[in-house]
Amino acid sequence: MTSIRIRKGYDINIAGTPSCDVEKLEKPTRVALLPERIPFIKPRLKVKIDDQVNVGSPVFEDKRNPDFIFLSPGGGRISKIDYGPRRIIKEIIIALDQDEGYETFPMINETHLEDMEREALVQMLTAGGLWPLFRELPFRNIPNPQSLPPSIIISLGSREPFQPVPEVYLKDKIDLFEFGIKILNKLTGTLFISASPDNNFVPDRLNTHVTHTCEGVYPADDPGVLLYYIKKHPDENRSWYINGQDVLLLAMLFKTGKYPVDRTVVLGGTLATEKKHLQTRMGVPLNHITKGRADNTGAGRHIVGGIFNGYTGSEDSYMGFYETSLVLIPEGDEKEFVGFARPGFNKPSRSRTFLSLLNKSSMAVDCNCHGEVRACINCGFCAEVCPVDILPQFTYKSILADEIEEALNHGLLDCVECCLCTYVCPSKVELRNLFKETKKAYFLEQL
Ligand code: SF4
Ligand code: SF4
Repeated sequence: MTSIRIRKGYDINIAGTPSCDVEKLEKPTRVALLPERIPFIKPRLKVKIDDQVNVGSPVFEDKRNPDFIFLSPGGGRISKIDYGPRRIIKEIIIALDQDEGYETFPMINETHLEDMEREALVQMLTAGGLWPLFRELPFRNIPNPQSLPPSIIISLGSREPFQPVPEVYLKDKIDLFEFGIKILNKLTGTLFISASPDNNFVPDRLNTHVTHTCEGVYPADDPGVLLYYIKKHPDENRSWYINGQDVLLLAMLFKTGKYPVDRTVVLGGTLATEKKHLQTRMGVPLNHITKGRADNTGAGRHIVGGIFNGYTGSEDSYMGFYETSLVLIPEGDEKEFVGFARPGFNKPSRSRTFLSLLNKSSMAVDCNCHGEVRACINCGFCAEVCPVDILPQFTYKSILADEIEEALNHGLLDCVECCLCTYVCPSKVELRNLFKETKKAYFLEQL
Protein backbone atom coordinates (compact mmCIF):
# COMPACT_ATOMS: atom_id res chain seq x y z
CA MET A 1 0.00 0.00 0.00
CA THR A 2 1.35 3.42 -0.95
CA SER A 3 0.68 6.36 1.29
CA ILE A 4 0.23 9.76 -0.32
CA ARG A 5 0.05 13.09 1.44
CA ILE A 6 -2.01 15.65 -0.44
CA ARG A 7 -0.46 18.99 0.43
CA LYS A 8 -3.24 21.37 -0.52
CA GLY A 9 -7.03 21.57 -0.30
CA TYR A 10 -9.32 22.73 2.44
CA ASP A 11 -11.77 21.15 4.88
CA ILE A 12 -14.86 23.29 5.32
CA ASN A 13 -16.13 22.88 8.88
CA ILE A 14 -19.80 22.87 8.06
CA ALA A 15 -22.88 22.05 10.15
CA GLY A 16 -25.51 19.57 9.05
CA THR A 17 -23.31 16.54 8.33
CA PRO A 18 -25.40 13.36 8.19
CA SER A 19 -24.96 10.63 10.77
CA CYS A 20 -24.29 6.97 9.94
CA ASP A 21 -27.86 6.06 10.94
CA VAL A 22 -29.73 4.39 8.11
CA GLU A 23 -33.42 4.45 7.31
CA LYS A 24 -35.02 2.39 4.58
CA LEU A 25 -37.53 4.45 2.63
CA GLU A 26 -40.80 3.07 1.38
CA LYS A 27 -41.33 2.63 -2.34
CA PRO A 28 -42.02 5.94 -4.16
CA THR A 29 -44.96 6.29 -6.57
CA ARG A 30 -42.75 7.52 -9.41
CA VAL A 31 -39.10 7.73 -10.40
CA ALA A 32 -37.30 9.60 -13.17
CA LEU A 33 -34.29 9.68 -15.44
CA LEU A 34 -32.66 13.06 -16.04
CA PRO A 35 -30.78 12.97 -19.37
CA GLU A 36 -29.93 16.65 -19.02
CA ARG A 37 -27.73 15.87 -16.01
CA ILE A 38 -25.59 13.26 -17.74
CA PRO A 39 -22.52 14.99 -19.13
CA PHE A 40 -21.53 14.84 -22.79
CA ILE A 41 -24.45 12.82 -24.09
CA LYS A 42 -27.09 13.62 -26.69
CA PRO A 43 -30.11 11.55 -25.71
CA ARG A 44 -32.25 9.70 -28.26
CA LEU A 45 -35.49 8.43 -26.76
CA LYS A 46 -36.47 4.79 -27.05
CA VAL A 47 -39.86 5.30 -25.38
CA LYS A 48 -42.86 7.58 -25.71
CA ILE A 49 -45.60 8.74 -23.33
CA ASP A 50 -47.81 5.92 -22.02
CA ASP A 51 -45.36 3.17 -22.96
CA GLN A 52 -45.15 0.39 -20.40
CA VAL A 53 -41.59 -0.33 -19.18
CA ASN A 54 -39.98 -2.84 -16.86
CA VAL A 55 -37.10 -2.18 -14.49
CA GLY A 56 -34.17 -2.40 -16.91
CA SER A 57 -36.04 -1.56 -20.16
CA PRO A 58 -34.06 0.83 -22.42
CA VAL A 59 -35.34 4.39 -22.08
CA PHE A 60 -32.78 6.39 -24.06
CA GLU A 61 -29.36 6.08 -25.63
CA ASP A 62 -26.62 8.44 -26.65
CA LYS A 63 -26.86 9.53 -30.30
CA ARG A 64 -23.07 9.71 -30.60
CA ASN A 65 -22.43 6.37 -28.99
CA PRO A 66 -25.46 4.03 -28.91
CA ASP A 67 -23.50 1.72 -26.57
CA PHE A 68 -24.37 4.18 -23.81
CA ILE A 69 -27.83 2.90 -22.95
CA PHE A 70 -29.85 4.19 -20.00
CA LEU A 71 -32.37 1.80 -18.52
CA SER A 72 -35.56 2.37 -16.63
CA PRO A 73 -35.12 2.59 -12.84
CA GLY A 74 -38.72 1.48 -12.37
CA GLY A 75 -41.45 -0.72 -13.78
CA GLY A 76 -44.58 1.13 -14.86
CA ARG A 77 -45.87 3.70 -17.33
CA ILE A 78 -43.94 6.57 -18.93
CA SER A 79 -46.15 9.31 -17.53
CA LYS A 80 -44.28 12.43 -18.63
CA ILE A 81 -41.37 13.56 -20.77
CA ASP A 82 -40.33 17.04 -19.83
CA TYR A 83 -38.43 19.18 -22.36
CA GLY A 84 -36.41 22.31 -21.68
CA PRO A 85 -35.24 25.07 -24.03
CA ARG A 86 -34.10 23.82 -27.46
CA ARG A 87 -35.98 20.54 -26.84
CA ILE A 88 -33.40 19.33 -24.32
CA ILE A 89 -34.87 16.32 -22.53
CA LYS A 90 -34.93 17.24 -18.87
CA GLU A 91 -36.92 14.47 -17.19
CA ILE A 92 -38.49 11.18 -18.17
CA ILE A 93 -40.94 10.23 -15.43
CA ILE A 94 -42.14 6.70 -14.78
CA ALA A 95 -45.30 6.12 -12.72
CA LEU A 96 -44.56 2.90 -10.86
CA ASP A 97 -46.81 -0.16 -10.91
CA GLN A 98 -47.69 -1.88 -7.68
CA ASP A 99 -45.96 -5.01 -8.97
CA GLU A 100 -43.08 -3.93 -11.15
CA GLY A 101 -41.87 -6.09 -14.00
CA TYR A 102 -38.14 -6.75 -14.46
CA GLU A 103 -36.05 -7.30 -17.57
CA THR A 104 -33.64 -10.18 -17.08
CA PHE A 105 -29.93 -10.24 -17.80
CA PRO A 106 -27.48 -13.18 -17.78
CA MET A 107 -26.33 -14.20 -14.30
CA ILE A 108 -22.58 -14.64 -13.85
CA ASN A 109 -20.74 -16.22 -10.95
CA GLU A 110 -17.02 -16.17 -10.05
CA THR A 111 -16.20 -19.22 -12.20
CA HIS A 112 -18.04 -17.85 -15.25
CA LEU A 113 -16.31 -14.53 -14.75
CA GLU A 114 -12.85 -16.08 -14.78
CA ASP A 115 -13.56 -17.76 -18.13
CA MET A 116 -15.12 -14.71 -19.76
CA GLU A 117 -13.42 -12.69 -22.48
CA ARG A 118 -13.06 -8.99 -21.73
CA GLU A 119 -15.16 -8.14 -24.79
CA ALA A 120 -18.10 -10.25 -23.56
CA LEU A 121 -17.88 -8.58 -20.16
CA VAL A 122 -17.95 -5.11 -21.71
CA GLN A 123 -20.94 -6.13 -23.81
CA MET A 124 -22.80 -7.28 -20.69
CA LEU A 125 -22.08 -4.05 -18.85
CA THR A 126 -23.23 -1.89 -21.76
CA ALA A 127 -26.41 -3.95 -22.37
CA GLY A 128 -27.01 -3.93 -18.61
CA GLY A 129 -27.02 -0.10 -18.60
CA LEU A 130 -24.10 0.20 -16.17
CA TRP A 131 -21.34 1.33 -18.53
CA PRO A 132 -22.09 5.03 -17.80
CA LEU A 133 -20.97 4.42 -14.20
CA PHE A 134 -17.41 4.54 -15.54
CA ARG A 135 -15.97 7.99 -16.10
CA GLU A 136 -12.79 8.92 -17.88
CA LEU A 137 -10.33 11.54 -16.71
CA PRO A 138 -9.58 14.35 -17.33
CA PHE A 139 -12.96 15.33 -18.86
CA ARG A 140 -15.09 12.97 -16.73
CA ASN A 141 -16.92 11.72 -19.83
CA ILE A 142 -18.23 8.18 -20.21
CA PRO A 143 -15.37 6.17 -21.73
CA ASN A 144 -15.58 4.46 -25.08
CA PRO A 145 -16.25 0.75 -24.40
CA GLN A 146 -13.77 -0.17 -27.14
CA SER A 147 -10.88 1.59 -25.39
CA LEU A 148 -8.50 0.16 -22.80
CA PRO A 149 -7.92 2.26 -19.70
CA PRO A 150 -4.36 2.69 -18.36
CA SER A 151 -5.93 2.16 -14.92
CA ILE A 152 -9.24 2.27 -13.07
CA ILE A 153 -9.46 4.14 -9.78
CA ILE A 154 -11.99 3.46 -7.04
CA SER A 155 -12.17 6.00 -4.25
CA LEU A 156 -13.74 4.62 -1.10
CA GLY A 157 -15.40 7.60 0.47
CA SER A 158 -15.06 11.31 0.09
CA ARG A 159 -13.83 14.16 2.28
CA GLU A 160 -16.88 16.07 1.04
CA PRO A 161 -19.11 16.24 4.16
CA PHE A 162 -22.34 15.21 2.44
CA GLN A 163 -21.57 11.97 0.64
CA PRO A 164 -22.42 8.38 1.66
CA VAL A 165 -19.65 6.80 3.73
CA PRO A 166 -18.28 3.30 3.03
CA GLU A 167 -19.03 2.26 6.59
CA VAL A 168 -22.73 2.47 5.62
CA TYR A 169 -22.94 1.54 1.95
CA LEU A 170 -20.56 -1.42 2.33
CA LYS A 171 -22.20 -2.81 5.45
CA ASP A 172 -22.83 -6.55 4.93
CA LYS A 173 -21.81 -6.18 1.27
CA ILE A 174 -18.09 -6.99 1.37
CA ASP A 175 -18.52 -10.19 -0.66
CA LEU A 176 -20.41 -8.26 -3.29
CA PHE A 177 -17.75 -5.57 -3.36
CA GLU A 178 -14.99 -8.14 -3.76
CA PHE A 179 -16.89 -9.62 -6.69
CA GLY A 180 -17.09 -6.10 -8.17
CA ILE A 181 -13.30 -5.83 -7.81
CA LYS A 182 -12.93 -9.05 -9.81
CA ILE A 183 -15.11 -7.59 -12.58
CA LEU A 184 -12.93 -4.48 -12.70
CA ASN A 185 -9.76 -6.56 -12.74
CA LYS A 186 -10.99 -8.12 -15.98
CA LEU A 187 -11.34 -4.65 -17.52
CA THR A 188 -7.92 -3.32 -16.65
CA GLY A 189 -4.48 -4.56 -15.67
CA THR A 190 -4.12 -1.79 -13.13
CA LEU A 191 -6.73 -1.19 -10.47
CA PHE A 192 -6.15 1.44 -7.81
CA ILE A 193 -8.30 1.52 -4.70
CA SER A 194 -7.81 4.52 -2.48
CA ALA A 195 -9.00 5.26 1.02
CA SER A 196 -8.35 7.97 3.53
CA PRO A 197 -6.38 7.02 6.67
CA ASP A 198 -7.99 9.97 8.50
CA ASN A 199 -11.22 8.05 8.83
CA ASN A 200 -11.83 4.48 9.92
CA PHE A 201 -14.76 3.94 7.60
CA VAL A 202 -13.26 1.17 5.50
CA PRO A 203 -13.98 -2.29 6.90
CA ASP A 204 -10.79 -4.21 7.85
CA ARG A 205 -11.35 -6.94 5.28
CA LEU A 206 -11.36 -4.41 2.47
CA ASN A 207 -8.17 -2.77 3.64
CA THR A 208 -6.26 -5.66 2.09
CA HIS A 209 -7.44 -4.45 -1.35
CA VAL A 210 -6.55 -0.80 -0.78
CA THR A 211 -3.56 0.20 -2.93
CA HIS A 212 -3.25 3.85 -1.87
CA THR A 213 -4.10 5.89 1.17
CA CYS A 214 -4.58 9.60 0.60
CA GLU A 215 -3.87 11.73 3.62
CA GLY A 216 -5.05 15.33 3.59
CA VAL A 217 -8.05 17.57 3.43
CA TYR A 218 -10.82 17.89 0.81
CA PRO A 219 -10.60 16.82 -2.04
CA ALA A 220 -7.83 14.34 -1.14
CA ASP A 221 -10.05 11.38 -2.11
CA ASP A 222 -10.82 12.58 -5.61
CA PRO A 223 -9.58 10.13 -8.26
CA GLY A 224 -8.18 13.03 -10.30
CA VAL A 225 -6.10 14.16 -7.32
CA LEU A 226 -4.75 10.65 -6.75
CA LEU A 227 -3.86 10.39 -10.44
CA TYR A 228 -2.12 13.77 -10.35
CA TYR A 229 0.14 12.48 -7.57
CA ILE A 230 0.90 9.02 -8.96
CA LYS A 231 0.98 9.34 -12.74
CA LYS A 232 4.32 8.82 -14.40
CA HIS A 233 3.34 9.23 -18.05
CA PRO A 234 0.88 11.54 -19.90
CA ASP A 235 -0.96 8.47 -21.27
CA GLU A 236 -2.19 7.82 -17.73
CA ASN A 237 -4.25 11.04 -17.89
CA ARG A 238 -6.95 8.97 -19.57
CA SER A 239 -7.52 6.72 -16.55
CA TRP A 240 -11.07 5.76 -15.61
CA TYR A 241 -12.74 5.92 -12.24
CA ILE A 242 -15.86 4.57 -10.59
CA ASN A 243 -17.41 5.32 -7.21
CA GLY A 244 -17.18 2.74 -4.46
CA GLN A 245 -20.94 2.37 -4.18
CA ASP A 246 -21.25 1.84 -7.95
CA VAL A 247 -18.87 -1.14 -7.80
CA LEU A 248 -21.64 -2.88 -5.85
CA LEU A 249 -24.06 -2.24 -8.71
CA LEU A 250 -21.82 -4.03 -11.23
CA ALA A 251 -21.71 -7.03 -8.92
CA MET A 252 -25.47 -6.95 -8.30
CA LEU A 253 -26.26 -6.97 -12.03
CA PHE A 254 -24.18 -10.13 -12.48
CA LYS A 255 -25.34 -11.87 -9.30
CA THR A 256 -29.07 -11.19 -9.63
CA GLY A 257 -29.60 -10.84 -13.39
CA LYS A 258 -31.63 -7.68 -12.69
CA TYR A 259 -30.87 -4.01 -13.32
CA PRO A 260 -29.83 -2.75 -9.85
CA VAL A 261 -31.70 0.37 -8.77
CA ASP A 262 -30.89 0.45 -5.05
CA ARG A 263 -29.00 3.49 -3.82
CA THR A 264 -27.74 4.66 -0.44
CA VAL A 265 -28.16 8.42 -0.38
CA VAL A 266 -27.52 10.99 2.32
CA LEU A 267 -29.74 13.79 3.48
CA GLY A 268 -27.84 16.61 5.19
CA GLY A 269 -27.63 20.37 5.67
CA THR A 270 -28.97 22.58 8.41
CA LEU A 271 -32.55 22.52 7.08
CA ALA A 272 -32.70 18.74 7.21
CA THR A 273 -34.37 17.79 10.47
CA GLU A 274 -33.11 14.22 10.12
CA LYS A 275 -29.56 14.08 8.82
CA LYS A 276 -28.79 10.51 7.94
CA HIS A 277 -28.26 7.86 5.30
CA LEU A 278 -31.33 6.61 3.46
CA GLN A 279 -31.78 3.41 1.53
CA THR A 280 -33.86 4.18 -1.50
CA ARG A 281 -33.64 3.83 -5.26
CA MET A 282 -32.30 5.59 -8.30
CA GLY A 283 -34.33 8.51 -9.64
CA VAL A 284 -36.39 8.98 -6.49
CA PRO A 285 -38.33 12.29 -6.12
CA LEU A 286 -36.65 14.80 -3.80
CA ASN A 287 -39.89 15.31 -1.90
CA HIS A 288 -39.96 11.58 -1.16
CA ILE A 289 -36.60 11.98 0.57
CA THR A 290 -37.45 15.18 2.41
CA LYS A 291 -41.01 14.26 3.49
CA GLY A 292 -41.14 14.76 7.26
CA ARG A 293 -37.36 15.27 7.36
CA ALA A 294 -37.02 18.94 6.43
CA ASP A 295 -37.67 22.32 7.98
CA ASN A 296 -39.85 24.16 5.45
CA THR A 297 -40.47 27.29 7.49
CA GLY A 298 -38.05 29.60 5.62
CA ALA A 299 -36.64 29.88 2.10
CA GLY A 300 -34.31 26.96 1.52
CA ARG A 301 -32.39 25.40 -1.33
CA HIS A 302 -32.16 21.77 -2.42
CA ILE A 303 -28.65 20.95 -3.59
CA VAL A 304 -28.47 17.63 -5.41
CA GLY A 305 -25.08 15.90 -5.60
CA GLY A 306 -23.14 17.59 -2.80
CA ILE A 307 -22.30 21.02 -1.49
CA PHE A 308 -19.32 21.63 -3.80
CA ASN A 309 -20.30 19.77 -6.95
CA GLY A 310 -24.07 19.62 -6.83
CA TYR A 311 -26.77 21.58 -8.63
CA THR A 312 -29.95 23.27 -7.49
CA GLY A 313 -33.04 21.08 -7.51
CA SER A 314 -36.58 21.74 -6.35
CA GLU A 315 -39.10 19.86 -4.22
CA ASP A 316 -40.61 18.52 -7.44
CA SER A 317 -37.40 17.30 -9.05
CA TYR A 318 -35.59 13.94 -8.81
CA MET A 319 -32.27 12.41 -7.92
CA GLY A 320 -30.13 11.82 -11.02
CA PHE A 321 -28.26 8.77 -12.28
CA TYR A 322 -25.03 9.71 -10.45
CA GLU A 323 -26.22 11.69 -7.45
CA THR A 324 -26.36 10.20 -3.96
CA SER A 325 -26.52 13.35 -1.86
CA LEU A 326 -29.22 15.88 -1.04
CA VAL A 327 -28.28 18.95 1.00
CA LEU A 328 -30.83 21.42 2.34
CA ILE A 329 -29.54 24.84 3.33
CA PRO A 330 -31.15 28.28 3.76
CA GLU A 331 -31.12 30.74 0.88
CA GLY A 332 -29.75 33.34 3.29
CA ASP A 333 -31.10 36.25 1.28
CA GLU A 334 -32.09 38.38 4.28
CA LYS A 335 -29.98 41.49 4.75
CA GLU A 336 -27.80 41.45 7.85
CA PHE A 337 -28.09 44.67 9.86
CA VAL A 338 -24.64 46.35 9.84
CA GLY A 339 -23.28 43.02 8.56
CA PHE A 340 -20.01 44.68 7.47
CA ALA A 341 -19.26 45.59 11.10
CA ARG A 342 -19.84 42.13 12.55
CA PRO A 343 -16.86 40.05 13.56
CA GLY A 344 -18.16 36.95 11.74
CA PHE A 345 -17.52 34.45 14.54
CA ASN A 346 -20.06 32.04 13.01
CA LYS A 347 -19.36 32.69 9.32
CA PRO A 348 -17.49 29.80 7.74
CA SER A 349 -14.73 31.33 5.66
CA ARG A 350 -11.11 30.70 4.84
CA SER A 351 -10.47 34.42 5.00
CA ARG A 352 -8.52 35.62 8.01
CA THR A 353 -10.69 38.74 8.21
CA PHE A 354 -13.40 36.82 10.11
CA LEU A 355 -13.17 35.70 13.72
CA SER A 356 -14.50 32.32 12.60
CA LEU A 357 -10.83 31.50 12.18
CA LEU A 358 -10.85 30.88 15.95
CA ASN A 359 -14.13 28.95 15.94
CA LYS A 360 -13.43 25.21 15.86
CA SER A 361 -17.06 24.07 15.97
CA SER A 362 -19.00 23.37 12.78
CA MET A 363 -20.80 26.34 11.28
CA ALA A 364 -23.99 26.77 9.25
CA VAL A 365 -23.71 27.86 5.63
CA ASP A 366 -26.30 29.44 3.39
CA CYS A 367 -26.43 30.31 -0.30
CA ASN A 368 -25.60 33.99 0.13
CA CYS A 369 -22.37 34.98 -1.65
CA HIS A 370 -22.15 38.16 0.46
CA GLY A 371 -21.23 40.36 -2.47
CA GLU A 372 -21.11 40.67 -6.23
CA VAL A 373 -18.51 39.40 -8.66
CA ARG A 374 -15.54 41.75 -8.78
CA ALA A 375 -12.25 41.84 -10.63
CA CYS A 376 -9.54 39.42 -9.54
CA ILE A 377 -7.25 41.11 -7.02
CA ASN A 378 -4.40 38.58 -7.39
CA CYS A 379 -4.65 37.56 -3.74
CA GLY A 380 -3.54 34.02 -4.60
CA PHE A 381 -6.03 32.32 -2.23
CA CYS A 382 -7.22 30.09 -5.09
CA ALA A 383 -3.68 28.86 -5.77
CA GLU A 384 -3.14 28.16 -2.05
CA VAL A 385 -5.98 25.62 -1.96
CA CYS A 386 -5.81 24.11 -5.46
CA PRO A 387 -4.89 20.46 -4.89
CA VAL A 388 -3.35 20.00 -8.33
CA ASP A 389 -1.15 23.12 -8.34
CA ILE A 390 -2.92 24.93 -11.12
CA LEU A 391 -2.56 28.65 -10.76
CA PRO A 392 -6.32 29.28 -11.09
CA GLN A 393 -5.99 33.06 -11.31
CA PHE A 394 -3.67 32.84 -14.34
CA THR A 395 -5.62 30.01 -15.94
CA TYR A 396 -8.73 32.15 -15.56
CA LYS A 397 -7.10 35.15 -17.20
CA SER A 398 -5.79 33.02 -20.06
CA ILE A 399 -9.29 31.75 -20.75
CA LEU A 400 -10.74 35.25 -20.62
CA ALA A 401 -8.13 36.30 -23.18
CA ASP A 402 -9.09 33.29 -25.32
CA GLU A 403 -5.56 31.89 -24.88
CA ILE A 404 -6.63 28.27 -24.50
CA GLU A 405 -3.15 26.89 -25.20
CA GLU A 406 -1.82 28.96 -22.33
CA ALA A 407 -4.62 27.73 -20.04
CA LEU A 408 -3.70 24.16 -20.99
CA ASN A 409 -0.07 24.91 -20.16
CA HIS A 410 -1.17 26.09 -16.73
CA GLY A 411 -2.67 22.64 -16.21
CA LEU A 412 -6.34 23.26 -17.02
CA LEU A 413 -6.87 19.57 -17.78
CA ASP A 414 -5.59 18.58 -14.35
CA CYS A 415 -8.42 20.57 -12.73
CA VAL A 416 -10.50 18.11 -10.70
CA GLU A 417 -13.46 20.53 -10.57
CA CYS A 418 -13.45 20.50 -6.76
CA CYS A 419 -14.76 24.10 -6.54
CA LEU A 420 -12.40 25.14 -3.74
CA CYS A 421 -10.98 28.03 -5.78
CA THR A 422 -14.48 29.43 -6.22
CA TYR A 423 -15.26 28.93 -2.54
CA VAL A 424 -12.22 30.86 -1.28
CA CYS A 425 -12.22 33.64 -3.91
CA PRO A 426 -12.95 36.99 -2.19
CA SER A 427 -13.93 38.46 -5.59
CA LYS A 428 -16.61 35.75 -6.07
CA VAL A 429 -15.17 34.68 -9.41
CA GLU A 430 -16.84 31.44 -10.56
CA LEU A 431 -13.50 29.89 -11.46
CA ARG A 432 -14.56 26.24 -11.31
CA ASN A 433 -17.56 26.74 -13.60
CA LEU A 434 -15.41 28.53 -16.15
CA PHE A 435 -12.80 25.75 -16.05
CA LYS A 436 -15.44 23.06 -16.34
CA GLU A 437 -17.11 24.76 -19.31
CA THR A 438 -13.77 25.36 -21.03
CA LYS A 439 -12.76 21.71 -20.55
CA LYS A 440 -16.13 20.66 -21.94
CA ALA A 441 -15.77 22.88 -25.02
CA TYR A 442 -12.25 21.53 -25.57
CA PHE A 443 -13.49 17.94 -25.27
CA LEU A 444 -16.33 18.51 -27.75
CA GLU A 445 -13.89 20.17 -30.15
CA GLN A 446 -11.69 17.07 -29.99
CA LEU A 447 -14.73 14.92 -30.83
S1 SF4 B 1 -8.61 24.94 -10.31
FE1 SF4 B 1 -9.83 23.08 -10.34
S2 SF4 B 1 -8.72 21.66 -9.01
FE2 SF4 B 1 -7.92 23.70 -8.59
S3 SF4 B 1 -9.18 24.43 -6.85
FE3 SF4 B 1 -10.17 25.15 -8.72
S4 SF4 B 1 -11.71 23.58 -9.21
FE4 SF4 B 1 -10.26 22.67 -7.73
S1 SF4 C 1 -8.89 33.93 -5.22
FE1 SF4 C 1 -10.05 35.16 -6.71
S2 SF4 C 1 -9.29 37.22 -6.45
FE2 SF4 C 1 -7.79 35.87 -5.43
S3 SF4 C 1 -6.27 35.44 -7.05
FE3 SF4 C 1 -7.80 33.81 -7.16
S4 SF4 C 1 -9.26 34.55 -8.70
FE4 SF4 C 1 -8.08 36.30 -8.06
